[in-house]
Amino acid sequence: MPDSVGENVAVPSCPGCDSAEFKSTGPEAPGFFTEVAGRKLHQARYFVRECLNCGLLYRTPTLSDDTLADYYALVSFQKWEASHYHPIERVVLSVLKSLPPGSRILDYGCSSGRLLSNLCHDYECYGSEVNSVAAREASIRGLRMIEPGDLGSTLSVKFDAIVLVDVFEHLRKPLVRLRQLMQHASAAALLVIATGNGDATACRRDPAQFWYFRTLEHLCMFTERHARHLAAALGLSSEGLTKMCHYDLSAREKVVLWLHDFVYWQFRRRTFLARTLLSLLPKIRRARIWTSAPTYTCTRDHVVAVFRGQEDQR
Ligand SMILES: [Zn+2]
Repeated sequence: MPDSVGENVAVPSCPGCDSAEFKSTGPEAPGFFTEVAGRKLHQARYFVRECLNCGLLYRTPTLSDDTLADYYALVSFQKWEASHYHPIERVVLSVLKSLPPGSRILDYGCSSGRLLSNLCHDYECYGSEVNSVAAREASIRGLRMIEPGDLGSTLSVKFDAIVLVDVFEHLRKPLVRLRQLMQHASAAALLVIATGNGDATACRRDPAQFWYFRTLEHLCMFTERHARHLAAALGLSSEGLTKMCHYDLSAREKVVLWLHDFVYWQFRRRTFLARTLLSLLPKIRRARIWTSAPTYTCTRDHVVAVFRGQEDQR
């Protein structure tokens, strides 16, 4: 993989349902760079589209499969480590703890295994992870690791719950992968997806500018409409959908994020306030030249969606 590049490829149809019917969600967004292991990967200028068939939001172009595979091989799992569980993880864990002891749980894209590591005494906890360093760490933490390639073949185990936390948005073909995973689920198994909420008000102002799509490896964004599509396509019933903030943030952090966001949108919309008072304030008026929206992570921009298998449809 050469330095300072990243091969970008157009996404000709919806990653969720293959429909080519879409509506635009806003203007083209500027490209950006992400550094991993000393190499800069380039996301080219892009649009975010909304699929008219299934409601999924998706970015086009994106990095190619090969470049993304390089990225996942190089990136340190420490990037996603935290000393505590995030709010969405706490919700997922509360769902999993409703399962009877001994239940089999698969964390797909488990990274270092931090989510399930504290459940290993009461449940059979399995993980699958493409990054080999993270997979080793998950194994040390007690998860029984399954090679990602083995999930397309016959496994002797049937899972009572399959969990994807901060993973759905990385999937090139989410429905295809979920279908593959649910082949290994018991009849009334839970499917728990924690991911970005494409219906969030802050996102809908211009999804391509929203911080979620300015993250290199985030290819698509879930919506309530897409949740209904998934349930129908996979023969699952919806057990609930919780919208929430991903992070625990202090009041001060929230105020700072809100102020940056407020000022950006005032200038972008060329409001009276922006043209008068805000333009006179030395530090504030710097926002006039911002070419993209500031990171804004303090809203209910995540969702935990819980589905359950229906025995008569599986
Ligand atoms: Zn679609």
